[in-house]
Amino acid sequence: MHDALDQADRAVQAGARLIEWRIDALVGGDDAFKAIQTLLRDSPASCIVTCRPLWEGGLCEVPEIERLELLRNIIESDSPPKYVDLEMLALERSPEAAIALIDAIKETNTRPGVEVGLILSSHDFKGRPVDLIQKIETMTNEMGVNVIKVVWLARSLRDNLEAFAILRERSRPTLALCMGEFGLMSRVLAPKFGGFITFASEAPGHETAPGQASIEELRNLYRFDSIGRDTKVYGVIGWPVGHSLSPKIHNAGFDAIEHDGVYLPLPVPKEYEHFKATVGSLIDDERLDFRGASVTIPHKENLIRFVMERGGSIEPMAGFIGAANTLVVNEDGSIEAINTDCPAAIKALCARLDIEPDALQGKRVAILGAGGVARGIVAGLAQLGAKVTIFNRSQNRAEAMVEAFRELAPIAIGEALQLIDERFDIYINGTPLGMNGGPDPEASPLPDGAPLEGALVMETVYNPVETPLIRQAEANGAITLDGLAMFVRQAGTQFKHWTGRALPVDVMDVDRGN
Ligand code: NAP
Repeated sequence: MHDALDQADRAVQAGARLIEWRIDALVGGDDAFKAIQTLLRDSPASCIVTCRPLWEGGLCEVPEIERLELLRNIIESDSPPKYVDLEMLALERSPEAAIALIDAIKETNTRPGVEVGLILSSHDFKGRPVDLIQKIETMTNEMGVNVIKVVWLARSLRDNLEAFAILRERSRPTLALCMGEFGLMSRVLAPKFGGFITFASEAPGHETAPGQASIEELRNLYRFDSIGRDTKVYGVIGWPVGHSLSPKIHNAGFDAIEHDGVYLPLPVPKEYEHFKATVGSLIDDERLDFRGASVTIPHKENLIRFVMERGGSIEPMAGFIGAANTLVVNEDGSIEAINTDCPAAIKALCARLDIEPDALQGKRVAILGAGGVARGIVAGLAQLGAKVTIFNRSQNRAEAMVEAFRELAPIAIGEALQLIDERFDIYINGTPLGMNGGPDPEASPLPDGAPLEGALVMETVYNPVETPLIRQAEANGAITLDGLAMFVRQAGTQFKHWTGRALPVDVMDVDRGN
């Protein structure tokens, strides 16, 4: 009890206004009722009591009649909770006991100064229930219900849009939340659509449902307290997106300039059909106010295709590169694809070497990788007259890049041995090697023995900031440039496109220890 109350205290200090006591696991033990009474009496904030049974994803194993009777006793006790959660299915499984519970609430509410509300809930941990709309209708028509709660496991970001539609069309206080990796949006944006409450865990690792954010994340990272009806929505589209630093930077930026926006991780599976369907739905849902996104692996090429198919505009450099990392959705619904990686890389490089871009002419540059980020950097360097050699795992992708940029400048394809035998002025990693959560976080894309002394070694991976490549370069006397240098510059340009304002400098000075 002591630990539970401490945890509740911490939650209230962090900003929780209501505590949900999940008593599932207490029930059935000796003195359960006494323990629950202690929790209710000493609760640091008004509370919801929930005793979730096994058949609805909870831990309570006692017979249904016993469970509902316990809830009834709690309601009739001296310290009743502000809300009691009752599963809709309980009304079907044990109608008499469930109705007795509802009657007990009515009776308790006749006591002076006491008001207990009933939350009627329905959860689906497998996906969107086929009869979702029918369920909501039945719940809405149920007598004695104060709040309707529907929760399901989202199959894609599009499920959030349905949750928002449910909230918009509600005729009673309603909670519509999506669980799992696709569901964060429904939890953060609940206030935009008038959701009754949202749930957050007291601390990371203490979630009571998959995909729940912590109070700290919700309030400090996702700007929960400032979300309202007109809040504009942005995000980072990728697969996976869990490691992205972008939400931290852009949300801090919105805060600093008081822009009414929120920036979320937007996971979209790698196939183009997923990208097209999801991003199309986000743009087409006018009430969402979706205004733009950063687009990362593996969707940078998909963004160009998508914007072309929808008749949007493609910035010439992005079109030339064939990859874009920024989506802008204008107020009239028109869309633009922009590449901010390319200018960011060139600016970061020049700042580190303290040179003007023109001075890159004739520099010998080894590019490791031939994916989206490499294409952007190669285009920028080739345009400035640098002598670029590409080293890539698969030959055909390197050849495709050489072919694509043929009219711009001759680009060479390198053999692995050249990285030992030859010395380049600049080395740039455009692979995910060294990245947390990537194919090999411990690997450097350069072989041992590469002659790096005096060269500039530029990393594009920024999580972690100090990668195996950066360590190798430092140990071999190279000048190093970490991935954050480029990252904050490309983020700054995106921010300008979306808000018309510069990303504040203190936001750009992200913690390099992270
Ligand atoms: P991408 O389009 O998927 O390309 C990845 C490239 O890395 C491909 O050339 C691929 O080779 C190569 N590669 C992948 N796994 C490899 C492995 N195990 N061994 C050797 N080569 C491998 O990805 P991207 O969009 O270019 O992103 C690459 C990296 O850039 C990411 O780590 C990302 O974090 C970073 N990035 C940083 C910034 C920044 O602002 N700092 C911006 C964008 C991206 P194949 O062609 O053989 O598949």
